[in-house]
Amino acid sequence: MSVRVRFAPSPTGMMHIGNARTALITWLYARSKRGHFLLRIDDTDLERSKQEYEDAIEEGLKWLGMGWDEKARQRDRLDYYAVKIEQLKASGRLYPCYETAEELELKRKSQLARKLPPIYDREALKLTEDQKKAYEAQGRKPHWRFKMNHAPIKWNDEVRGPVHFEGGDMSDPVLIREDGSPLYHLCSVIDDIDYKITHVVRGEDHVTNTAMHVQMFEALGATPPGFAHLPLLSDAQGGKLSKRLGALNLRELRDDEGLEAMAVVSLMARLGTSDPIEPFTDIKDVIANFDISKFGRGTPKFDQEELNRLNAKILHHTSYASIKPRLAEIGLADLDEAFWDVVRPNLEKLSDAKEWWRVANGPVQPVIEDAAFIAEAAKLLPETPWTRETWSQWVEAVKAQTGRKGKLLFMPLRQALTGMDHGPELADLLLLIGPEKAKQRLAA
Ligand code: GLU
Repeated sequence: MSVRVRFAPSPTGMMHIGNARTALITWLYARSKRGHFLLRIDDTDLERSKQEYEDAIEEGLKWLGMGWDEKARQRDRLDYYAVKIEQLKASGRLYPCYETAEELELKRKSQLARKLPPIYDREALKLTEDQKKAYEAQGRKPHWRFKMNHAPIKWNDEVRGPVHFEGGDMSDPVLIREDGSPLYHLCSVIDDIDYKITHVVRGEDHVTNTAMHVQMFEALGATPPGFAHLPLLSDAQGGKLSKRLGALNLRELRDDEGLEAMAVVSLMARLGTSDPIEPFTDIKDVIANFDISKFGRGTPKFDQEELNRLNAKILHHTSYASIKPRLAEIGLADLDEAFWDVVRPNLEKLSDAKEWWRVANGPVQPVIEDAAFIAEAAKLLPETPWTRETWSQWVEAVKAQTGRKGKLLFMPLRQALTGMDHGPELADLLLLIGPEKAKQRLAA
């Protein structure tokens, strides 16, 4: 049986790092098993769902290199849900309830006061046809609950291992609102059946939902799929990741933080697993090394600093051919391979390359503290054409002439040539600056 999975975001907010992680792990699961990846937009909440968020989800998936084999929108499938809903009503698994929100709240409070679990008491099941008609005559519209079987619910979770719930401990969930619109749970299960999903990968905030879903699959005549519930990310201190923090949003990680997609992919593919976090530059290697059984139940901590460090390592390993399109994106289309090889060990973010491009090509404000020393050194600059040996020939000559050595020799030359006191190897940088600009800067 070939693997079929889905990533099912609700387009009610910007795609954040937690969604991206669920998407990536689901996608890697599919790709590592040559399976099928469905992007399902859970937009039954018409009020909160927005096109701009759906667009941002697609943009985020594409940025991270995750293509989908098929896309579905729940909003487009309401007629299909209606057919399935009629089946569940006919079989008695969906039953109408007429309590108002206030009445339900009162019941809940009185159960809690009596130290009872707040489980729906199924009073609605006792209503006669006449009583229902009387409610309808008052203008009350029913909401519909799913009747849970009071039986054990078990599955072997690919992340959590054996999971066990008791149907009798669970409240019958509302699946249809008073306005007739179906809730996420029902649409999700109907879709998972219809799209022949073999494995549901999602956050552990859905574990209790899964217990209900298992019975819903069965009520709809289907065998439940496999499940893998991932622990949710926490922040670096172990607290709840807050959506309000800007840099948790994928677009901001890309545009404001200037991070490479592969840094996000490398971290999210390994965070919370028994494998070390490694800087991957090619998503094919991430796929080849993926194994969902390596994800544990511990809460993975998301630390932006770790992401930044990984980003630097990735840049240090990235070939010119792979980075060329990104260089063009940030306005460095002219930056060539020789330049890239010199500067990449000095980059934390790709945008740092702009700074080294400026250092090589100007404008640079030379820093010259000892003008006599720099004037002396300028006179000793070797003849052109320059090679990678030019720098060592030059410093040897300056050393012989002035008696300076070590930092006292190199630092003033670096400051005069670049206006900075750190940077790539001067043997390489000198060649990138070239004789003409080097002379101008030393004469400044
Ligand atoms: N739309 C749900 C969510 O974003 C989907 C959960 C799922 O079934 O994967 O939480």
